Amino acid sequence: MQIHIKTYGCTLNRADSDIVESAALAAGMRLTDEQDADVIVVNTCTVKAVTERKILERLARYEAAGRRVVVTGCMASANSDLIERYAPGASIITTPNAHMIPGLAAGVAGGGRFVIDRYSRRDAALGAGMRSGVIARIPISDGCLSACSFCETKRARGPLNSFPEGSILRAVSNAVANGAREIELASQDTGAYGLDRGTDIARLMERISGIDGEFMVRIGMLNPEHMHRYIDRFISAMADRRFYKFVHLPVQSGSDRVLGAMRRNYTISSVMGMFGRLRAEVEGITLETDVIVGYPGETRSELEETFAFLESARPDITNISKFAPRPHAPASALPQFPNDEVKSRSSEASRRVRAIQHSINEGFIGKSVDVLITEKGAHSANGKTRSYRQVVISEGHESVALGTWQRAIIEKVSANALYGVLA
Ligand code: SF4
Repeated sequence: MQIHIKTYGCTLNRADSDIVESAALAAGMRLTDEQDADVIVVNTCTVKAVTERKILERLARYEAAGRRVVVTGCMASANSDLIERYAPGASIITTPNAHMIPGLAAGVAGGGRFVIDRYSRRDAALGAGMRSGVIARIPISDGCLSACSFCETKRARGPLNSFPEGSILRAVSNAVANGAREIELASQDTGAYGLDRGTDIARLMERISGIDGEFMVRIGMLNPEHMHRYIDRFISAMADRRFYKFVHLPVQSGSDRVLGAMRRNYTISSVMGMFGRLRAEVEGITLETDVIVGYPGETRSELEETFAFLESARPDITNISKFAPRPHAPASALPQFPNDEVKSRSSEASRRVRAIQHSINEGFIGKSVDVLITEKGAHSANGKTRSYRQVVISEGHESVALGTWQRAIIEKVSANALYGVLA
């Protein structure tokens, strides 16, 4: 039995695909290219309309070609009606049940169609870390505690379900024993981890610090809403050199009115406070954020407030998204801006962000940095510094092994990466 897994979306989705992959290999299946596969697994994402369209087009192509397909991921929970419209022959297995896919694959290949849409609480990072490359993605929870007005993922993943600390620690230890050098803790909202279990992400970080070995840990995106509960312990836990000095706090808007409309449950001054503390207390930290422009009703002066936040907080990385209504999200019922207006706001925001990022990165020219090599391509070896800054090494890349630390001198930069030569 040969399967092919196609993954869209976030780190959590990639972590879930790793789980399916591990279970398939354990069941004696082979992973293969799309054209040779008996069964194609499509792990889907609902965050952006443009991605959703691409997925549906792909499913329709598979359907027309008579391919045997299993759809999982957020669309399987949130938009199964669309899947049934575009690919009526595809099986649909919701994410918490995705580990069952290999067990159903023979039936799917033989023409069967399965729909498992019940919501099951996964109680562990099932199989995570059993098969790792240099990077192991470990899911730590499903769902979140928020109800952001623009978000459809909540509908797909449900309420917060944090996995037990013990199962996560076992998954991390397994991954490290199997050769992983970078551990990505994956979740919809890492900041909410444990709040349904009387614990939190800072406590999990303290426990991970107790695991022996040489590895780096990347903490996933944290909704700023919960950070105030544990920021002191979070900053202390970051002192372990094996945590990347990197925090991703998606602010979404610089306007308190828009944040309220988005139901984000924090103010811009509280986020400024977090940025300030993290910068002051975690040496060399890289701060990433996300911003949505063109939210329904966003005025010019509210957009300016977002720009003012960016100019003053100067995040090292900012991901700009154009607001796009998602079918089941409350904000989709509000009057929308024309596409051109949203596009022009996004272009303006992107121009400003590129300028900020480029000027921050210029400060690295001539500096010597340690880089953990996590990816090798035909023309370069790519890796991350201890502050999770992306470094590309071209000259001499052939001699550089995956999973090793290399010292590099930064020669040039772009808005998104540093380019170095081996020291
Ligand atoms: S925190 Fe908000 S944006 Fe993130 S998954 Fe939950 S509802 Fe969606």
